[in-house]
Amino acid sequence: NESFPRVNMDNRGEVLGGLLTLGFDEASCISRVQSHLYRKVSPHKPSPYLISKLRNYEQIHTKCGPNTRAYDRSMTKIERSNDNNATATTCKYLIWTPVNGLGNQIISIAATFLYAILTDRVLLVKFGKDKHDLFCEPFLNSTWILPEKSPFWKENHIQTYQILLEKDNASNSKSVLFINLQHSYSSPEKKFHCDHRQDLIRKIPLLILRSDQYFVPSLFMNPLFNEEINKMFPEKDTIFHHLGRYLFHPSNEAWKLIRRYYQEHLAKADERIGIQIRVFNAVSTPQQAIMDLVLSCTLNRKILPKVDLQTSTSSVGKNETVKAVLVASLYEEYGDNLRRMYQKKPTASGESIEVYQPSHERKQMINDDKHNLKAWMEMYLLSLSDVLVTTSLSTFGYVAQGLGNLKPWLLYKLVSNETHFPPCEQDFSLEPCYHDPPKHYCDGKPLKDFASSFSSLKKCKDFSFGVKLV
Ligand code: GDP
Repeated sequence: NESFPRVNMDNRGEVLGGLLTLGFDEASCISRVQSHLYRKVSPHKPSPYLISKLRNYEQIHTKCGPNTRAYDRSMTKIERSNDNNATATTCKYLIWTPVNGLGNQIISIAATFLYAILTDRVLLVKFGKDKHDLFCEPFLNSTWILPEKSPFWKENHIQTYQILLEKDNASNSKSVLFINLQHSYSSPEKKFHCDHRQDLIRKIPLLILRSDQYFVPSLFMNPLFNEEINKMFPEKDTIFHHLGRYLFHPSNEAWKLIRRYYQEHLAKADERIGIQIRVFNAVSTPQQAIMDLVLSCTLNRKILPKVDLQTSTSSVGKNETVKAVLVASLYEEYGDNLRRMYQKKPTASGESIEVYQPSHERKQMINDDKHNLKAWMEMYLLSLSDVLVTTSLSTFGYVAQGLGNLKPWLLYKLVSNETHFPPCEQDFSLEPCYHDPPKHYCDGKPLKDFASSFSSLKKCKDFSFGVKLV
């Protein structure tokens, strides 16, 4: 006897028949058929052109993905010719390599998938055991996980994009190219999106791309990509929203946890409020300063009601409205503090506030499947909120806002024992912020303000060097 607050059966055919292809075995990925029971209907419809590009991509993946003859043939050819000049193969590939936390990884996979669609390459992801049980397979009758026995798990002896640029001679390029797009303040800029660079890259059958960034805005510098993206996404601020909902379906294991948590704690509330408290430096930033910031934001913006300091709990008539607050943080103190505050005193509005925090891992862990599962579950639960508060600069929050179609309240990123006013501001777009935009035009001239060079870009509110689509 589960209660589904947002049952809308009309939505089902639309989600499955629109963005998602039909034909999947429902039992293999329950979230694919049930998520619409938990989510609000997205007001953003995928364009017919996006849908046709996805169907086209799926055909390429089915033909060229792992466990096909085309895959075996192409990969064998690539492997054999690795030390020689780029060889022509039936299928071309793009291997995504992880770096950084799960939020970074999810937004960069979405960007990499868009690049794969634009260049007719098959996307393969280097998922170790820590990520095997997070997501369903997104492509029908195939897998996107780089097979364990692939020689391309190793990245040594593979020519890098940097070296190729130094030679600047496409005829010398090999069959495999490693492109490192990881955000770093010191490494030289990679203009891999530029047109003449694409000419260089296009012939190479296998690209290995490492990224922790949502580099979609850089693709706008390429006139061909620009035109295609404009056709695929008439609403520019929905790129991650659509691609994220297309790619990232919780696995049955993750879905069981998400569903159970939602049913037990959040389903019956009148309003769900997600608060993501990311502490980037727990040593220099005292908990009290962060707690003050969270309260100042949520109370002043009327996201949460003030407590009535005059009266005791018993003397206030309840107005029956229940707000459930989902706190996501590595530290349990934030959920505890908030819960205690509302347990001790009634709210001035008479609403009751229930506070839940699914986990408190205390520190970020790498290569840990259980840890990743909790992070994914919390990103997903946050995305089911009605109102979302996130921490500036956190990609964990970006995933939740994009999947959930939410413009979050961005908490200021504190670095020490400070106060900040305003404590939070509402974002203007659902899209993730791209923290590392190009600093040069493709012809090498300095590009001072990337955001103002494209009408669909703006500076991020949470990071002035970053840009995002609007
Ligand atoms: P970002 O560093 O905030 O941009 O987000 P990432 O997701 O890329 O990296 C942070 C990682 O730390 C997450 O993937 C989790 O592994 C862990 N983490 C941080 N905050 C939380 C949280 O609120 N809940 C859980 N379960 N894990 C968290």
